[in-house]
Amino acid sequence: MTETRTTCPYCGVGCGVIARVENGGVSVRGDDSHPANFGRLCVKGSALGETTGLTGRLLHPEVDDQPVSWDQALDRAGERLREIIDQYGPQAVAFYASGQLLTEDYYAANKLMKGFIGAANIDTNSRLCMSSAVVGYKRAFGEDVVPCSYEDIEKTDLVVLVGSNAAWTHPVLYQRLVQARAANPALKVVVIDPRRTATCDIADLHLALTPGSDAGLFVGLLDTIEPGRASDWPTERVADFCGLLPDEVATFYAWFTAAPRAVTLYTMGINQSASGSDKCNAIINVHLASGKIGREGCGPFSLTGQPNAMGGREVGGLANQLAAHMNFTPDDLSRVARFWGTGRLAQTPGLMAVELFEAIARGDVKAVWIMGTNPAVSLPDSHAVCQALAACPLVIVSEVMRDTDTSRFAHIRFPALGWGEKDGTVTNSERRISRQRAFLPVPGEAKPDWWIIARIAERLGHGAAFAWDHPHAIFSEHAALTAFENQGERMLNLGALAQLTREEWDGLTPWQWPVNREAFTRGRQLPVNPQPHGATGSVLYPFTLNSGRIRDQWHTMTRTGYVPRLMQHSDEPTVDISPQDAARLGLQEGQLARISAPRGVMVARARINEGQRVGQLFVPMHWNSCFSRQGKVNALVEGRCDPHSGQPESKQTAVRLMPW
Ligand code: SF4
Repeated sequence: MTETRTTCPYCGVGCGVIARVENGGVSVRGDDSHPANFGRLCVKGSALGETTGLTGRLLHPEVDDQPVSWDQALDRAGERLREIIDQYGPQAVAFYASGQLLTEDYYAANKLMKGFIGAANIDTNSRLCMSSAVVGYKRAFGEDVVPCSYEDIEKTDLVVLVGSNAAWTHPVLYQRLVQARAANPALKVVVIDPRRTATCDIADLHLALTPGSDAGLFVGLLDTIEPGRASDWPTERVADFCGLLPDEVATFYAWFTAAPRAVTLYTMGINQSASGSDKCNAIINVHLASGKIGREGCGPFSLTGQPNAMGGREVGGLANQLAAHMNFTPDDLSRVARFWGTGRLAQTPGLMAVELFEAIARGDVKAVWIMGTNPAVSLPDSHAVCQALAACPLVIVSEVMRDTDTSRFAHIRFPALGWGEKDGTVTNSERRISRQRAFLPVPGEAKPDWWIIARIAERLGHGAAFAWDHPHAIFSEHAALTAFENQGERMLNLGALAQLTREEWDGLTPWQWPVNREAFTRGRQLPVNPQPHGATGSVLYPFTLNSGRIRDQWHTMTRTGYVPRLMQHSDEPTVDISPQDAARLGLQEGQLARISAPRGVMVARARINEGQRVGQLFVPMHWNSCFSRQGKVNALVEGRCDPHSGQPESKQTAVRLMPW
């Protein structure tokens, strides 16, 4: 029997897990010593042991669907990439990565693409998750830094949850809030969400606002906090804009202004919007104006959806930033180029997720390497994504699973190590770096992502810069880069970890990188002009479709979909509809419904839900063709993005619904 301390690979709470291997089976329990969860796990986390089987795994490299040796697969990928770069230039190549990658994998991918191939076309599924939050923080504080910690929830007087069903999507953090409230009955909770979700069970006030109207609510709050401001957004106007009662708005404003301390938790309901960046700044503005920032129990706190969205942000996994929180400025470009010893560093930002796949469709990008993610399901306008991949001359996929909606388009498949097999670090929503540790044997011929990237770098002639023998060496390099010529200009500084020996790195206990809290009080307010909201609501497409997670599934179900007990919660695509709309359409509970939009159709089983507003539908985001032929919600969603963050509007799609 062995026990290994590691980290849950699902959400950004980043819970510590103790994995026990006994008689060939794996069981898990929460790690009491981990500051993110103190021993708690949610349903998904506690089922991790049931996801470690090899059913459906990709275990050998493949070229054109045939198993080949590693050398053959790597040689083929290297040759084709070189041909495309030589003929069309580096901009014809793109990487699409994932918040599931470990920091070391992410660092290697970013270094190869930006530093040595010489284009910045590396983006990630984290673009779909929190890139608006990144823009919000950078505009306010000059750097992508989260100014809060989980313990602030226990030290505050008011928790505002906006666009977050934390009870299902960040369950252990939600439980921490439940406990904080039990310990301190004076702690108030406000939930701002068009739907009445499980999170509302602890709400003292639920504001079921019109989808997309959040900015108006926070701009009105700013007017209330700053009496000197010309009040363009008095309470009555806010109530009208948000579809709320004036009394509800006034109560929220009174609670926020009266509370000595307040934390605002926000996530996809804010970020996944065509004006998500402005919504983030509208939230940050009220914390700056009220002084509820830069001290315990206060601050605007973006929750990340994935286990390592934050690690990706730290190493430059987004197309519009450099490694170590540096930017495409002359000084930062020079600094990164000198550190990496490269003369090929990309000089301008690259393509962001949606535009990257549009560029593939146009034929501008001719080679894409997709690592640990399933864009054929998770990107908006997913039929167009599939068409782009089908026409792309070179699709390389690094994957754990053999058959996904995306991997069916792959010319070359690289088998990657999964959770429990790979070694590295992840960073959670509160900037805490934890180790993911290997405790299972390597299955088949699978390899770490960083190793695959380094072998391709060799074949492209850049082997010397990628001569790592272990993820510890990559982590040390990443940590050293954060400290390189950093006299306090950047808060991200992992210099304290750069000299860890391999043994020390292996034994690393969860470590939160420090910030200068006071610096946040000097943040910049950004003027926000609330945008018209709501889907078009035309006669043809009268409903507004919202999508999101359900309690027991993860992303596109490539892991959780194979666990019977996780499928018990909800085993097929569903659509939540208000009783009034269901009655008007003659739709019964459990009846199949057809949902159509200009770009696609899906079928789902109706769930009549009193927590659903009239005219609004909710559909889970997880279903894909491996589990349901007609349940893919992103087939309906348009690829409309926030102009600053490139994050798609996933929460408001105009659709029609009819009984099937
Ligand atoms: Fe894993 Fe998130 Fe659940 Fe924690 S809350 S066990 S990190 S899925």
